[in-house]
Amino acid sequence: MAVDATAADRSFPKSLEKESAERGQRTVWYRYRAYRLDGGWIQALTRRGRVVSRALGTSAAPTKYLPMPRTELPAEFAKVISEKDVLQFVGNYGLLGFSQASLTTMSAEPYPDETREPIDWVLMHARTVRFILEMHDALRKPAALRRILEQALTPVPDNPRTRVPGFTMLTFAERGLLEPRQVRAEDYGYAPDGPTPSGFARNIIAEILNVNLAGVHRHVSPRLDSVWRAESLIDVVYWLLADAVSNRTIRRCHFCGHFFTAATTSKRQYCPPPRNSAGDGPCAQNDRARRYRLQKKQEAARHPQTIARHRSRSR
Ligand SMILES: [Zn+2]
Repeated sequence: MAVDATAADRSFPKSLEKESAERGQRTVWYRYRAYRLDGGWIQALTRRGRVVSRALGTSAAPTKYLPMPRTELPAEFAKVISEKDVLQFVGNYGLLGFSQASLTTMSAEPYPDETREPIDWVLMHARTVRFILEMHDALRKPAALRRILEQALTPVPDNPRTRVPGFTMLTFAERGLLEPRQVRAEDYGYAPDGPTPSGFARNIIAEILNVNLAGVHRHVSPRLDSVWRAESLIDVVYWLLADAVSNRTIRRCHFCGHFFTAATTSKRQYCPPPRNSAGDGPCAQNDRARRYRLQKKQEAARHPQTIARHRSRSR
């Protein structure tokens, strides 16, 4: 199982504590020793590979960490497409917190077990986060934005029996709800044959973020500190996503197309290197190698004789 920086996490290094306190919050999250996919669920395991007792809940998790300084969370979560990706993401950051979110989402069925959560729920949220990132990236690219929206929107025809006129449906994940929330795109300014829908995209980005920020709130601790707190990791993901979207710190890698976060002042155009290492990441290196091969190929096409002569001489 891929797990990063566990030793450092356990002791809450000063730098993380400071960064977290500067952001005025104290959200702590939990990671178990291992996880496994289990018939539509992702289940926390003990060191010996046994199912964690549901009664122990998060008190049985050996690792506690502060997720707020992990600004890479939304972009990393957006890469989750398959069940295998869920397993890897959860191995790194812990469960998303379906149980905690379900207890504090209006009209959700409370789910008391903190040691497992439905994979479909995780995938639905990852899709929603990806949708926001793609729309945000395409706000100034009308053709790309139209393509993204065409894929996401479903036209619902007139219903002559109920006399409900046709509309355009959009679905997205909402905190602890198992089923996607459905809205009428027209209520957010969408017109199927209208002009470039960037206003609509902004309305939808704001709506999805606002709905999913309901688990972030102000909290006063017994030490009488007033801090921001999130109920679950999924709440932290949307919190960081809202910050990234409003501060424009989210970018798309020029090589692989994945999203990543970078400071506004950073010149980075490719996925960053693994945490705690400096310099270029693998995508920057791969793109350099690709450009080099392309250049060699073009040179060969331009001067075939030179190269043939060079080859025969070196033989
Ligand atoms: Zn990349």
